[in-house]
Amino acid sequence: MDWAEHYPAYAVPAEADKDEQGPRRLTKDVTVADIGCGFGGLLVALAPQLSSDLLLGLEIRTQVAEFVQDRIRALRAQNASSSSPDLYQNIACIRANTMKFLPNFFRKAQLSKIFLCFPDPHFKARKHKARIVSATLNSEYAFVMREGGVMYTITDVEDLHRWMVGHFEAHGSFERVSEEEVESDGCVEVMRRETEEGKKVERNKGEKFVALFRRKADPPWP
Ligand code: SAM
Repeated sequence: MDWAEHYPAYAVPAEADKDEQGPRRLTKDVTVADIGCGFGGLLVALAPQLSSDLLLGLEIRTQVAEFVQDRIRALRAQNASSSSPDLYQNIACIRANTMKFLPNFFRKAQLSKIFLCFPDPHFKARKHKARIVSATLNSEYAFVMREGGVMYTITDVEDLHRWMVGHFEAHGSFERVSEEEVESDGCVEVMRRETEEGKKVERNKGEKFVALFRRKADPPWP
């Protein structure tokens, strides 16, 4: 994986990179993932707020992922000669099916935040296996998430909200974050307002259900 291609401003300069055979390395790792990022509204809005993190959007639709890549390139170019030329250098998007390949992109305990914003609801019971939250996938999120890291979920479908809460609460590696903490977390407001789906729900005067889950420490080996 050549991360430097996606975050060129954070690439280790060639002369300082000892591993000349492999892909170029970055001065820091990606720590925030937006799974099913759609058109990238959350990434763009969080870029200045999480300016010391590298954020990655993962999107399964090729054309949508390419749209987000073009959007980020344009934002970087627009800001290059501004007073904040680093703005948007910390966000990128790749095309990926996270249901199959999430652990291929991240090491154990690499991430501090994962966003699941308005995931596809897959209403019919026989389609529930396509939902992005399940016992198996939650174990993958637990693997790539560091202790104390937070899973952010939002949906306008109450049944899916209950499904996500039920599956994360049943998983030994996560605990639900209190309402008080949810409301004081700056990323939550961005997630409610700046995602394309969040804006659509707002226009239709729909309800938004938010739930956050913290990665617990692993129990000590017996
Ligand atoms: N998160 C965005 C938002 O809130 O505006 C988009 C929400 S949209 C309803 C769900 C997105 O998840 C779609 O863009 C879809 O292509 C993407 N998606 C669905 N399954 C996926 C998968 N297995 N891997 C990556 N992206 C996926």
